[in-house]
Amino acid sequence: MQTGKINVQTENIFPIIKKFLYSDHEIFLRELVSNAVDATKKLKAFSSMGEFKGEVGKTTLEIILDKKAKTLTIRDRGIGMTGDDIVKYITQIAFSGAEEFVTKYKDKVDANAMIGHFGLGFYSAFMVAKEVEIVSLSFREGAKAARWICDGSPEYKLEETTKEFRGTDIILHIADDSTEFLEEARIDTLLKKYCRFLPEEIKFGTKKEYVKAEKEGDKETEVEVDNIINNPNPLWTRKPADLTDEDYKNFYRELYPMNFEEPLFWIHLNVDYPFNLTGVLYFPKLKNNFEAPKDKIQLYSNQVFVTDNVEHVVPDFLMLLRGVIDSPDIPLNVSRSYLQADSNVKKIAAHITKKVADKLEEIFKKDRTDFEKKWNDIKIFVEYGMLSDDKFNDKAQKFALLTNTEDAHFTLEEYENKIKPIQTDKDKKLIYLYTTNVAEQHSYIQAAKDRGYDVLLFDTPLDSHFIGKLESTLKEVAFVRVDADTVDKLIKKDEEQVSKLNDEQKKELQPIVEEVVAKDKFTVVFESLSEKDAPMLITRPEFMRRMKDMSAMGGGGMSFYGEMPDMYNLVVNTNHPLISKILGEKNADKRKAISKQAADLAMLSQGLLKGEELTKFIKRSVELID
Ligand code: ADP
Repeated sequence: MQTGKINVQTENIFPIIKKFLYSDHEIFLRELVSNAVDATKKLKAFSSMGEFKGEVGKTTLEIILDKKAKTLTIRDRGIGMTGDDIVKYITQIAFSGAEEFVTKYKDKVDANAMIGHFGLGFYSAFMVAKEVEIVSLSFREGAKAARWICDGSPEYKLEETTKEFRGTDIILHIADDSTEFLEEARIDTLLKKYCRFLPEEIKFGTKKEYVKAEKEGDKETEVEVDNIINNPNPLWTRKPADLTDEDYKNFYRELYPMNFEEPLFWIHLNVDYPFNLTGVLYFPKLKNNFEAPKDKIQLYSNQVFVTDNVEHVVPDFLMLLRGVIDSPDIPLNVSRSYLQADSNVKKIAAHITKKVADKLEEIFKKDRTDFEKKWNDIKIFVEYGMLSDDKFNDKAQKFALLTNTEDAHFTLEEYENKIKPIQTDKDKKLIYLYTTNVAEQHSYIQAAKDRGYDVLLFDTPLDSHFIGKLESTLKEVAFVRVDADTVDKLIKKDEEQVSKLNDEQKKELQPIVEEVVAKDKFTVVFESLSEKDAPMLITRPEFMRRMKDMSAMGGGGMSFYGEMPDMYNLVVNTNHPLISKILGEKNADKRKAISKQAADLAMLSQGLLKGEELTKFIKRSVELID
């Protein structure tokens, strides 16, 4: 037996390891299982290089819980360690790494946020154990088994021991304040979280079963229940050419068992230059546009789960996607703000964006009908992407679709060509007409269609921003909502209708009309429309409406002015016979009544007639029919 002292440069780090980073104590299991996987991988590599000539045999890892002894053992059949190896790798190299980590981060406020992305390594065992034992037999010929034990002070014991098979047992004597890690359910949950797709098979069982199995002399299955708890060959590590649609759908179900919808489509990522990245991203079918994503993209590093907080790794607009990204090149041992600035991370984000855009284009080209069918579900990604990422915006010009009120879809180019002949105004500007609500703006849509115009449907909250984006991307265009003006003026052409009323008459009419509407809300304007148009109608200038929308959303710096009032135009059609009739009516009461009725009708068609005004209108209308 030999005792030794770990060379502590600074203060004793063990109490620090134990005390801080409390909420993430659970990651010790990820660290130790990863080490076991690494040791197994190394053995296989040595074997294939001929450096190890023995039998590799079964390499399943075992996690063994012994409630009575209060231990948790992580067992592998990897390369193992000799006593010298332990001194070198555990007490010297690994220790100084852990020490550096602890001294660097112990005073940081966000240490907890950090450790989730940091490998504290072997010494993370001391977050949950009062004593850690290593029992190991190296793969090297003639090696003697070694047992190392340390209680969390810088002193340790090292002795020769016997061990039947190659590999390492890390035996954690669980501390009294960490007994949760003696619960089977807790360990099971942790293994499923961190080790679900680890590349080596993992068995988990309790000691009771282990003893029984040992008595039966069955060393291969010391943990009685042969419950492999992981999938060592997850889909993203396999070749796309070997996979069917069904495989992808099955894997989606495996990742998100609580989700019953099928994914719309998926992208298999596979990059090895200039960085390593594999993964599958799924486009989910969203229930509504505001659903906060609960089934998130999971980030792995060599099949070890790291986090499902992928902010700054995946571009914001793709946070609604699901799936897995696996990259050893994402630096895990740094803080969030560092991650944000990391050039690898930036490249990865850019790459994912490109891949997503390419895939969308591919589906669009290959099967447009299918793409159109899915458009409603993917529209939010595409629009958000176009708004937030210039490169994506460039690519999306080819496959982003506009949908009109007849539910027909057009690419930007197709639509431009469609409307160019009739919807170009006198200044050569192309006018895109749109509605935000087919039911409410029905009469305006109808009027526009009667003119031969086409009307687009923009009815999602993102659409108003998207319109702004299109206006700045496309040249010489303007987007105008169908109720922004009278149909004649929506798209200004040269030809002017002659007015039946002269300026004198208009002047006379002005106060009559102003008397029947709220002056602060409505501006009375005269227009020479067709006789067939309504005598009075209400429009809402595009600019005023956008300002109002912006102030309602609290954006655009408008809050400075307080809440914007609603402003409308009350358009009087000077060519309508009823207007001439009002002008000709000598009885003031009667004149006011007709004028009021006409104005109310205009309000009614915009959905603006409400409350007492509506009640009065109905009463008056009934009297009129009588
Ligand atoms: P890291 O894994 O980042 O090198 P660790 O502190 O986790 O740091 O481990 C330190 C070293 O101890 C490893 O590099 C390895 O050489 C050795 N080691 C740890 N666990 C095992 C194991 N289960 N089998 C063999 N060697 C191990």
